[in-house]
Order: sequence, then structure tokens, then C-alpha cells
Amino acid sequence: MKTIGIIGGMSWESTIEYYRYINEEVSRRVGGLHSAKIWLESYDFDLIEKLQTQENWEELGRIMVTSAQKLEQAGADYIAIATNTMHLLAPQVQANISIPLIHIAEATANTAKAQGINTVALFGTRYTMTKPFYKDKLQSDYHIQVILPQQADQTVINDIIYNELCRGIIKDTSRERLEQIINECQTRGAQAVVLGCTELPLIIKTASIPVIDTTKAHSLEIVNRILQ
Ligand code: GLU
Repeated sequence: MKTIGIIGGMSWESTIEYYRYINEEVSRRVGGLHSAKIWLESYDFDLIEKLQTQENWEELGRIMVTSAQKLEQAGADYIAIATNTMHLLAPQVQANISIPLIHIAEATANTAKAQGINTVALFGTRYTMTKPFYKDKLQSDYHIQVILPQQADQTVINDIIYNELCRGIIKDTSRERLEQIINECQTRGAQAVVLGCTELPLIIKTASIPVIDTTKAHSLEIVNRILQ
């Protein structure tokens, strides 16, 4: 079995889900007492969130690259960044290490394709919804059409992520609001919703259209690679 190096803690509420999914899947596939070989670099999310708010992607890039190099030196065979948002820096990270980075949007796109889905609503942080790094990958590399929530709804989703989910707060009222936004995207042609933030699956499990859980898709792809 190969070793995965995970850059996590963004937030820990979702990193713990990676840890569980990866180990459950290794156990399911290999059996016995087997579990995954993992190196984890877990950040204090307060620092990361502050730098995001300042749009200091230069410093965030340095932080991500340093972690990836540290994990590579420690013996990781693959790197995974356990958040959709920080994949904005994935090309920079990959350019500065010699082991493969397992990209969350690729795992997500392959999950959608396997279900015959060609048009998705993309829910995530404001960075994931508004910057090109994520939707361009789905659209250009995988020919998956991306529908974004209306601007006011993007703010609602972003606020639920940072003010509630990343703090371990799950509210029924927020779930209902997210469901309404999913329905609205469905009327505009979305065949599925990509929960493009690793905390969103903590609150949305099912919806009126299929749900693509990026935490799970990424974790399962990590297991595919470390068991190859
Ligand atoms: N975990 C979230 C994501 O998947 C948001 C937290 C972050 O900004 O990294 O995008």
C-alpha cells in the first residue's frame, strides 16, 4: 500500500470525514486489520481563512507548497489537499513536488461522468464559485456544464460554510435554504449538485437531484491510488 499525504484542517470538520472515508474504504477493500497509511498536515484554519479574506494567495501558495514538500520528504507517495477552495493553488503545488497531486475536481468530474451527468450546479465557497480554477476544469477538461447559484444565493452558501459548517454548527433552517437553492438550480437545468466544499456534505445528504459529495469522491480516488 502507498502512503497519502493530506494537507487538511481546512476545516478539521471535513478532514475528519476524509480520515474516516479513507480508512473505511481501505478496510472494506483489503479486509483484516488493514488501514490507510496517512501523513496529515493539519492547519489552524483561522490563519488560512484570514489569508483567504485578504486574498493573499501568494502566502497561501507558499504555505501549501511547504506542506506538500514536507509530506513528500516524510515519505508520501501522493498528495491530497482536503478542500476544494485551496485547489486554486493546486497547479503551483504540483509544480513544486515530484509526486502526483490527486485533484479533487478530477475526482468530482469522474464521479459525475460515471453517472452520465453533464450539467451540474456548483455549490462552494465564494472563491470556488466565482474564480475560474474549479469550473474551468469541469467545463474545459470534462465538458461538464456548470450552473452557478444566483449571486445572493452564493453569499448565503458562502456564509453557511464559514459561519456554521466550519464551526461544527448544523442548522435545519440552513439545510432548508440550501435545498431551495438546489431546486432553483434544477429549474435552470442542473442534473446534479456538486457539493464543491468539503463541509457541505455534513448538512446535505440527499436532494431533489443527485448529490455529488466531493469529500467522498476525493477520498475514494485517494484509496484507488494508494491501493493501485
Ligand atoms: N473546505 C472548504 C472547501 O472545500 C472550504 C474551506 C476552505 O476555505 O478551504 O472549499
